[in-house]
Amino acid sequence: MSLPRLDSFVSGSWQQGNGRSVTLVDPTTEASLAEATSEGVSMSSAYAYARDVGGPALRALGFRERGELLRGFSRALHAHRDELMALGVKNAGNTRSDAKFDVDGASATLASYADLGAELGDAKMLVDGEPMNIGRSSKLSGQHLWTTRLGVALHINAFNFPAWGLAEKAAVALLAGMPVISKPATSTALMAHRIMQIVVEEKLLPPGALSFIAGSTGDLVDQLREQDVLAFTGSGGTGAQLRGMKNVIACSVRVNVEADSLNAAILGGDVEAGSETFELFVKDVVRDITQKAGQKCTAIRRVFVPRARLEEVRALLLERLADTKVGDPSRDEVTMGPVATKRQQTDVLAGIERLKTAGARVLVGGGVPEAPIGVEAGKGYFVAPTLLECASLESVADVHDHEVFGPSTTLLPYDGDNDVTKMIELVRRGGGGLVASVYADDKAFLREVFLGIASSHGRVVLGNEKVAGGAVPPGTVMPGLVHGGPGRAGGGEELGGFRGLFLYMQRTALQGYGPFLASLASEGKRI
Ligand code: NAP
Repeated sequence: MSLPRLDSFVSGSWQQGNGRSVTLVDPTTEASLAEATSEGVSMSSAYAYARDVGGPALRALGFRERGELLRGFSRALHAHRDELMALGVKNAGNTRSDAKFDVDGASATLASYADLGAELGDAKMLVDGEPMNIGRSSKLSGQHLWTTRLGVALHINAFNFPAWGLAEKAAVALLAGMPVISKPATSTALMAHRIMQIVVEEKLLPPGALSFIAGSTGDLVDQLREQDVLAFTGSGGTGAQLRGMKNVIACSVRVNVEADSLNAAILGGDVEAGSETFELFVKDVVRDITQKAGQKCTAIRRVFVPRARLEEVRALLLERLADTKVGDPSRDEVTMGPVATKRQQTDVLAGIERLKTAGARVLVGGGVPEAPIGVEAGKGYFVAPTLLECASLESVADVHDHEVFGPSTTLLPYDGDNDVTKMIELVRRGGGGLVASVYADDKAFLREVFLGIASSHGRVVLGNEKVAGGAVPPGTVMPGLVHGGPGRAGGGEELGGFRGLFLYMQRTALQGYGPFLASLASEGKRI
């Protein structure tokens, strides 16, 4: 029986590719689910339609109206929530809770940008700061204005968040007024494909505002030009390759890369076992090992613990991890499913092996679990929840260099005050990360660590007893806060409320007769 083919939606219609296809698989059963290929789909026509039809339609609207489109998009995803979550369970190995995180994150981000649209009102421009006097005459003024770029936003997403990845990037670009071509990772594209079907069936967006590629990018990246934007999420290697493409360099294409990250969680020496802060820390670490089988770009990979607390931390983490029920994610009792693909399983196991060989001790897991619940023997791409430990901060250099993108994290003990300086240096390794979380009630320690690591992180989460009850975990990306990080993390920045719009707009310094500049600026929204 032939498998269903995922079509691309470009130039205002569904188009079937006709070349060599990639098979999408259920990572629990290894059953084939669908095929995808973009070969034969005309990428130049896709760009032309997005640029000539989608762009003008979006730019004719103000922020408020674009926000209303996002509101409709958000509501539609919510209305189809169960159906979309089922696709996450089937095609990405998500538990229902994992899939909910993805789908609800998508709706919430769209809704948040819809709210921002309402706040920005009917304007189409953003006014940056106050006007300034730039000459000897008071008539001469300067003012910065942001206007929408006239090209297309190409969004290339990773496999781990098919709904949120599509929605968070699209929400920002569409609110800024740029048409989007979205390409999900092929292996888990079923959910993103269904989202595109919903957008088309329910006519949620103007023609040309959102196009969708099923399968590889083909020559999409080669066709990017000066007014276009590339926003990429995936491995650092692919990010670097795309950034280095000839046309991308020659045309100064604006590029945003969200890549790998060795996110750290740091426990302060003042935190007593059993305290609220301690409990928050343990909860966050366990969640990040098991949620989405550890396949979150923001997941904690390195856990820095004062040596005096190591035994208690180790014991509690092992106790909690022992409660993890690994198996078929469609079953209610299962709390962790497989990783998304065979390649992922191979990479994750190889990564753990690398850390072991380099000297990290396996406290639990470290391989394929024996009998995942409800799964046929020998099937599925499972990796056991894994906790490793190093003898000291620097005993295993690879822990600070190699990201294991799966259900694995490593404990790293630090000693006295001198070690805090060394610990900060290691947290910064790789030139940066997406997020680090610091758990302490000692304000001086929080301050020292924050100031030590801030310049190499896009986000720092400070956890203490004051916020323990309602804390947002470090793994959750908030639409109003920036997501991204320097160095290894790709050097990018997404979201952050209105800040995200800047990627898709051009800031122009305008100088001239003050009253005229003021009247022009009055058409925009001051930020
Ligand atoms: P990947 O191989 O780089 O793939 C990511 C995306 O790029 C996919 O859509 C893929 O398409 C596409 N792609 C691959 N090669 C390409 C090329 N030569 N030209 C154009 N597009 C290309 O990454 P991955 O291994 O799937 O993703 C896991 C990595 O992503 C992890 O390292 C993780 O840290 C990182 N990640 C980062 C974030 C973040 O927000 N910073 C979020 C999630 C994941 P196909 O699927 O069709 O090959």
